[in-house]
Amino acid sequence: MSRVLIIGCGGVAQVAIAKCCQNSDTFKEIMIASRTKSKCDEVKARWENETSTIITTAQVDADKTEEVVALIKSYNPDVVLNVALPYQDLTIMDACLECGVHYVDTANYEPEDTDDPEWRAIYEKRCKDLGFSAYFDYSWQWAYQEKFEKAGLTALCGTGFDPGVTSVFCAYAKKHYFDRIDTIDILDCNGGDHGYAFATNFNPEINLREVSAPGSYMEDGKWIEIPPMAIKREYDFPEVGMKDMYLLHHEEIEALGRNMPEVKRIRFFMTFGQSYLTHMKCLENVGMLSTTPIEFEGQQIVPIQFLKALLPDPASLGPRTVGKTNIGCIFTGVKDGKEKTLYIYNVCDHQECYREVGSQAISYTTGVPAMIGTALVAEGLWKKPGVFTTDEFDPDPYMEMLNKWGLPWVVDENPVLVD
Ligand code: NDP
Repeated sequence: MSRVLIIGCGGVAQVAIAKCCQNSDTFKEIMIASRTKSKCDEVKARWENETSTIITTAQVDADKTEEVVALIKSYNPDVVLNVALPYQDLTIMDACLECGVHYVDTANYEPEDTDDPEWRAIYEKRCKDLGFSAYFDYSWQWAYQEKFEKAGLTALCGTGFDPGVTSVFCAYAKKHYFDRIDTIDILDCNGGDHGYAFATNFNPEINLREVSAPGSYMEDGKWIEIPPMAIKREYDFPEVGMKDMYLLHHEEIEALGRNMPEVKRIRFFMTFGQSYLTHMKCLENVGMLSTTPIEFEGQQIVPIQFLKALLPDPASLGPRTVGKTNIGCIFTGVKDGKEKTLYIYNVCDHQECYREVGSQAISYTTGVPAMIGTALVAEGLWKKPGVFTTDEFDPDPYMEMLNKWGLPWVVDENPVLVD
């Protein structure tokens, strides 16, 4: 029985909260704290009569460590679940360390201001040393390893679907199906249709930054970077059908490359429709994806934040989105001296998610694992001092909980491979 502070109240948080309320045996009490308190109050009102979980709400600016510290001290949680934005990862980790509380999140740190010269110097050195240029990377959070270890606290990073479940699939394949894994292809397919010409399924700023960046993959322990969308494949996804998918940089490649160095090649592919790509290219070409503030009629405006204000709120896509997602991992390797292939995936139906918790499947497939990771840390099943990703724990209890809490998975031992 635990008490959890949930920071953030957007699309992903709202699913995580709904799932905590369903799992009231574990989540005895939760506090929802975010920048806009009225959203927290609305979500509390939505669930409080359907759960025995006691819900309280608060306002917090999680960019300010001192505000998070004061809130943690007043609420005294066992774990903090950060489902705000990756910009707040470090301030919240600092607060957890100061207060002696475990930390969980769904996305690795990236700075809000990528023009900050102090951050940029470290970033540029990392690009040169490691060979990938994404704004997000684990180095910032792995740097907290010693601090969390000394404090006897667990920081569980990236317990969404990808990263999160995909890395658990890798640990599960390694534990139960392979003596040696040679290649991992992570395939993220959204076959959903929301009927808008252009919208993003989660925070537009984070989503568009990720997608417009160069792609990269790991081969023989080294990063290989390619121009955005330069590698395209087609794949016939179970229960979704044939889709175009593109190789992207993605954060679990970094953690898996470190934790499973024997794997020769790790790639990540995501499906995109032509309309999405055309809109994104156009927005990029006119400067709307820029994070550098511009002066407009006497005001400072960050173009991508202005774009976010124009686009549909991802949390509002739920009622309109039809179709399914299919996210999973294809493995090749060796078992008992024989070559082996394996595909583990989950299929999630947008409308079923909406009927259950009022959200589309992208928020659902992230919010459910956020709850699961938090529950495992809170219950002590996934607890060790330091900073870890989801591939570094026993995958079995997590896999069981996926089946129980709405994301059942399928194992196919004869999949079509990606060339
Ligand atoms: P949203 O933009 O919908 O929600 C973000 C929430 O954080 C909002 O409630 C926002 O408040 C709040 N917030 C922002 N800044 C602050 C701050 N300084 N202090 C307190 N609260 C703040 O994002 P999503 O729900 O789509 O995404 C949440 C997280 O999940 C992101 O980190 C994203 O990268 C991650 N994610 C991970 C995935 C995975 O599979 N691993 C997939 C999809 C998302 P306000 O309401 O005032 O704006």
